[in-house]
Amino acid sequence: MTQTAHGIEFTHHFSANPKFAPEREAILENPGFGNYFTDHTAIVDYSAETNSRGVWHSPRIEAYGAIPLDPAAAVLHYGQEIFEGLKAYRHEDGSIWTFRPDANAARLNKSARRLALPELPVEYFIGAIRELVSADREWVPAGDGEALYLRPFMIATEAFLGVRAACQASFRVIASPVGNYFGGELKPVTIWISQEYARAGRGGTGAAKCGGNYAASLIAQQEATANGCKQVLFLDQFNDNAIEELGGMNVFFVMKDGSLVTPALTGTILGGVTRMSVIQVAKDMGREVSERKITLDEWRDGVAAGEIAEVFACGTAAVVTPIGVLKGANELIGSENAKAGETTMAIRQQLLGVQTGVLEDTHGWLTRLV
Ligand SMILES: *Cc1c(COP(=O)(O)O)cnc(C)c1O
Repeated sequence: MTQTAHGIEFTHHFSANPKFAPEREAILENPGFGNYFTDHTAIVDYSAETNSRGVWHSPRIEAYGAIPLDPAAAVLHYGQEIFEGLKAYRHEDGSIWTFRPDANAARLNKSARRLALPELPVEYFIGAIRELVSADREWVPAGDGEALYLRPFMIATEAFLGVRAACQASFRVIASPVGNYFGGELKPVTIWISQEYARAGRGGTGAAKCGGNYAASLIAQQEATANGCKQVLFLDQFNDNAIEELGGMNVFFVMKDGSLVTPALTGTILGGVTRMSVIQVAKDMGREVSERKITLDEWRDGVAAGEIAEVFACGTAAVVTPIGVLKGANELIGSENAKAGETTMAIRQQLLGVQTGVLEDTHGWLTRLV
């Protein structure tokens, strides 16, 4: 057992057959995104009596493997699940750091409230990440653009088919070494406009990070792929086709005068930690940032008139990625030959620089894990 800085004790049941170094190193040569998982997982369980506040218990590190789950577990029937995503970066001196984990812990609890799951005390969230990364430290890649992607998630495990919030849940963290999300060098991506499908609606779960939102987005993602696009853009069709976000990334516009615009968080958009950080980085660069409604018409007309100079998407997985073309059934905005914009790349470099330890962390965004 080890005592973490926050006083939570995690029990360790280390894997009896971790990957041998040569196999691990071969994976780290070219990890892709989300294809391989480390040797361990962090787990904290929750139990409550009906209608009473429960307890989080049994924090532990176990070998990575299948989850024993009752076939009647609520998560399998009613989708009571939430998740997070953040990265651990290896710095030049070998130390390992993560970016704004407090923001992810707070968002997990916001999602938990919306999905009627129990809130997890932040010490457990940070403790689980620290213990897992410490156990699997050899899995944190050092290459350019590489990191160990951390996937905390919470599932309702109670075996019960009546419809109510489950009394038992499990919080877990798994980890996957990753390279560039879209593969290869950074090129502007082509985005498909979903005209028929929404990922979220007013009063729904759009502002929560839950699997159900992704389930709702996959059919639109299939349509995008069929049309040669990498990602989907969702619009609010009941609100002048206001731009919402991509399936898993927020969107920014760089205007001709150098200011930035991003859709305001209206309840149907997920508030990204990257979004929040981009806003700060842009302000640090002396840019004005407005969070407001921006419609598809404004995007089309703004690009045509030269009012909109650059468009980019942002999220933990792909950091900051330029958007080249927006395509729809009757729409083509932007140019296939577009290059990554200067402001987009400056913001990307600043953010990555802080995350990887080569630029000064003036906002105290980094937390050392190992
Ligand atoms: C996770 C996610 C984002 C990006 O959030 P980050 O905290 O920046 O990684 C954006 N949109 C959706 C729908 C998401 O699930």
